[in-house]
Amino acid sequence: MQKGAILVLSGPSGSGKSTVINAASEEIGEYYFSISTTTRAKREGEVDGVDYFFVDREDFEEDIKAGNFLEYAQVHGNYYGTSLKPVKEALKEGKLVIFDIDVQGHRLVRAKMNDITTSVFITPPTLKELEKRLRARSTDDEAVIAKRLQNAKSEIAAAGEYDFTIINDSVEVAAKQFVTVSKAARLKQSRESREKFIKEWFGEE
Ligand code: 5GP
Repeated sequence: MQKGAILVLSGPSGSGKSTVINAASEEIGEYYFSISTTTRAKREGEVDGVDYFFVDREDFEEDIKAGNFLEYAQVHGNYYGTSLKPVKEALKEGKLVIFDIDVQGHRLVRAKMNDITTSVFITPPTLKELEKRLRARSTDDEAVIAKRLQNAKSEIAAAGEYDFTIINDSVEVAAKQFVTVSKAARLKQSRESREKFIKEWFGEE
């Protein structure tokens, strides 16, 4: 029986990750996009349960204690985490599970589920272009933009840890490359050891 695979997508805020996923979504085939939980404030236009599950720090820390996260990290001073349960279910159903997580999250997922994980780092062509995009989004104030740019500089240094890099200059080209990467990610699920590995990892055997 075929089991699922994981595709980790990372890149600085403003690199266009969600735009690329949306542009590629019809050609990726059936997939499950993991909705993260965060303590950061909701941006204008964001919807609870669609973009993120927005919670307060107390609830997040309770979930950490209860072991409900596959991985979590602090980014820009806020918690972000991936809940274990829906991911486990989607993998069991044989789906491609897509994570939009930061470089710390990628390291944790690799450490736990390297066998079924493919990863891709998305970046704008230059730091200058990233700054332009963050300002154009104009949902964040200057201090937040400065923090995001600082974070982007350290994230880019981790790009070499990923299987693939996509330079998001043209969304159309980037989306095509993302479709190719997601096809490669699916191929990982064909290895015979997969089913046994997943059961063991989740402590079911
Ligand atoms: P934003 O606040 O712009 O939505 O996201 C900030 C950063 O947090 C992005 O780099 C995003 O990939 C990362 N992020 C979002 N959800 C998660 C998560 O569940 N885990 C981790 N480790 N990072 C996340």
